[in-house]
Amino acid sequence: MMNQANAILNNVFGFEQFRESQEAIISNVLHRQNTLAIMPTGGGKSLCYQIPGTVFDGLTIVISPLISLMQDQVRQLNELAIPACVLNSSLSDIDYQNNLDGIKQQQIKLLFLAPETALQTNILDLLSHCDVACIAIDEAHCISEWGHDFRPEYRQLNRLIECFPTAVCIALTATATPRVREDIKRQLNIIDSSEFISSFDRPNLFISVVPKDNPYLQCKNFVEQHPEQSGIIYCQSRSGVDELTAKLKRDGFSVLPYHAGLSSIKRSDYQERFIRDDVSIIVATIAFGMGINKPDVRYVLHYDLPKNIEGYYQQIGRAGRDGLSADCLLLFGYGDTGKIRFFIEQMNNEQEKRLANVHLNQMLALAEAEDCRRSPLLEYFGEKSVKENCANCDNCTGESKEKSDLTVPAQKFLSCVHRTGQRFGASHIIDVLRGSSAEKVLQNQHNLLSTYNIGNEFNKKQWMALARQLIHKGLLNQEEQFGGL
Ligand code: ADP
Ligand code: ZN
Repeated sequence: MMNQANAILNNVFGFEQFRESQEAIISNVLHRQNTLAIMPTGGGKSLCYQIPGTVFDGLTIVISPLISLMQDQVRQLNELAIPACVLNSSLSDIDYQNNLDGIKQQQIKLLFLAPETALQTNILDLLSHCDVACIAIDEAHCISEWGHDFRPEYRQLNRLIECFPTAVCIALTATATPRVREDIKRQLNIIDSSEFISSFDRPNLFISVVPKDNPYLQCKNFVEQHPEQSGIIYCQSRSGVDELTAKLKRDGFSVLPYHAGLSSIKRSDYQERFIRDDVSIIVATIAFGMGINKPDVRYVLHYDLPKNIEGYYQQIGRAGRDGLSADCLLLFGYGDTGKIRFFIEQMNNEQEKRLANVHLNQMLALAEAEDCRRSPLLEYFGEKSVKENCANCDNCTGESKEKSDLTVPAQKFLSCVHRTGQRFGASHIIDVLRGSSAEKVLQNQHNLLSTYNIGNEFNKKQWMALARQLIHKGLLNQEEQFGGL
């Protein structure tokens, strides 16, 4: 069967060879083994179900959260003469009926459905008359509350899978944290599945962070270093996008905005113009980029701090898809940290709040890292970075920055964590070190500890930065649920 898969890769898709993990994944699926495939964005997940879907005799159901992505794929597959279609309410009656007929007459190989559509009684009824060979769950992290994009509809998908016990199941995502991985397998009831985890490293991306001093000037200088090249600038807010776009335009740059406040006609027009190279720069909120496959984006600038590594990684991952070098710069300001913290404070759910704080701290560990920036990045995805020096981030290539000896403060901090019983979060530890008379300190009698009031050499912010470094270096563990150290 792999011969057939290879032939399809060459002759239908026109690619010379499989990427490293694609081959193993496809072979596993073709052998009807349930599969969990973790691959970075741009890694080539679609082929992992498109090719088995083409090889299998029966029908392959592909679950995907976004209508636009499904339509794109269907169009691409149809251009390659692979019979694929989508069923959703946006289709005209005629198209819907045609697609239904195609499915009933077993002409369709790949059927794309949103999760809520797949679980409709009429659709389940239709599918029960089909020979379903394979069920592919794309963006499978949506199933997990621990992921960054939880969608309750995804929780129901085990019902779909139960209906087709002979179909092989493949779940795909770019989120690799162990917790999310477990959740996906449990929720889909495919605990037995083999896992394939590709490396998340994108060695061609140069990763750098600079303090955000004069952001517009820094941004302008950076863009000027990339004349005529395509780039994306991410801002936190819509108003930020509009302001920055206006400034850049005034300074003569070829630039368009993108955010959810623009009409969908404008959004797709601007996106199209960026892809066609009519315009060089897109200034955008995180709404931009999902499913965009422009190979020659040469830089991504983060004008504001991302909330978590997940998002940051996805956004920089839109650069350099062609494998040529690309430049990623983050402007890092403590003001932004404060804004995100404020936003987190407004959350109602305590659990979500804690998780958001953990995620922010991981992001800060990257932004504040003194050694290779790839190490916190890859660590987040459960990988140990092999190389001490990646030779492609500011810390690895730069002239070594002034370093200071933090042994004593580190000892104080670790000792205080130990003496308070290894169950409090950083903020409490710092209160103890700085001799606070906060109720929580007094209640626990932590004012009686030898580590009480011995840490006034640092302010709270500086201690926090140290704590993050300790976590990042693996000298402290932070428990995800309550943030205890
Ligand atoms: P993902 O869904 O993982 O983000 P895609 O499936 O969209 O990634 O693939 C990203 C890009 O890589 C696409 O342009 C795709 O055509 C290309 N691609 C995938 N597999 C191969 C391959 N084996 N050889 C060459 N290009 C590939
Ligand atoms: Zn490095």
